[in-house]
Amino acid sequence: MLLSHLRDQLQRLEVEGLLRHRRIVEGSQDAHVKIDGRRLVSFCSNDYLGLASHPVLVAAAREGAERHGVGAGASHLVIGHNLAHHQLEKKLADFVGLPQALLFSTGYMANLGVVTALAARDDELFADKLNHASLNDAALLSRAKLRRYPHLDMQELGKQLAASQARTKIVLSDAVFSMDGDLAPVPELVALCERHNSWLLLDDAHGFGVLGQEGGGVLSHFNVHSPRIIYMGTLGKAAGVFGAFVAGEKEIIQTLIQRSRTYIYTTATPPLLAHTLLKSLDLIRTESDRRLRLAELIALFKNRLRLGHWRLLPSQTPIQALIIGEVRATVEISSALADEGILVPAIRPPTVPQGTARLRISLSAGHTAEDVERLVNALHKLEQKI
Ligand SMILES: *Cc1c(COP(=O)(O)O)cnc(C)c1O
Repeated sequence: MLLSHLRDQLQRLEVEGLLRHRRIVEGSQDAHVKIDGRRLVSFCSNDYLGLASHPVLVAAAREGAERHGVGAGASHLVIGHNLAHHQLEKKLADFVGLPQALLFSTGYMANLGVVTALAARDDELFADKLNHASLNDAALLSRAKLRRYPHLDMQELGKQLAASQARTKIVLSDAVFSMDGDLAPVPELVALCERHNSWLLLDDAHGFGVLGQEGGGVLSHFNVHSPRIIYMGTLGKAAGVFGAFVAGEKEIIQTLIQRSRTYIYTTATPPLLAHTLLKSLDLIRTESDRRLRLAELIALFKNRLRLGHWRLLPSQTPIQALIIGEVRATVEISSALADEGILVPAIRPPTVPQGTARLRISLSAGHTAEDVERLVNALHKLEQKI
């Protein structure tokens, strides 16, 4: 009975074209990957700077393992907090220009940890409707009242904040929207939070390492400063490794250490990863030609693409969303591209709103101009055919 119920649900997903499959990558993550023995160009990963298999980082991981072993052994509060973690936290705080930073295992856990530590039943959260799933889940888990505002609608957010009587308010927003590629209006968000005495949790999963002069992220991009900002950056995307961190005022970080359940009740990440990330931050800063190349590839893609009825969302980031609309057509296009050796993920509801199924193209400094030309030509051909 139980099994047949699951079987029915899975079958329904299959019929609707919503069943998800995993591809098995042989070897390392790069702009070019090997799958089923075939080499394909991938526009799927969040490794925007092409650091995930950088030889310097591979060597650092080896050195980190030799120095610190492979397992952390316990949570940070028990005995798992290693010198490498501690040094990385200092360096991350400096990197994003905030007083203190705290490492988390993943961005998902960091978002849960911040919101549940700071907000409870009588508090109020304000969230952009297109925020990442982890921010929505964090809000639910906190039991605080959740109000969602239309994407980027600062006027509506201002009204909601003004109407709130809650003692603790937190505005939650992606800095770069993960399925759209556009930026949150961070200076306006900060101004509203100052006016209405609210915290601002900025999820910069896709801006850290990519935006700003030296890859310092969205705060450096907009040159904003405020003690109300709680910054969350991830380390498995542009930084090429794994993990996440939260940065902000010392009182915030101290509170998270005392109260964040996703920080307290979990094993620390292997210190060898922290050791590797120290090197990754150096590369993000010093190899700025990677950011330049990425910017050139984004410009090339946008300049070459000529669309009839498909629609490219406005984005200055490496996330370029091509809206197809219908689920089945989107999956078909994605698989036709794969047949040509080009991997682009079809993003479907519930990840994105109904009727906005899309190809999510992510560009990387690891791509060549020829890779981008190949993608554009294949898209032109397919749009005429379908
Ligand atoms: C990827 C992502 C996360 C989760 O980060 P992980 O380290 O992969 O768990 C959180 N927020 C946004 C916007 C993301 O894109």
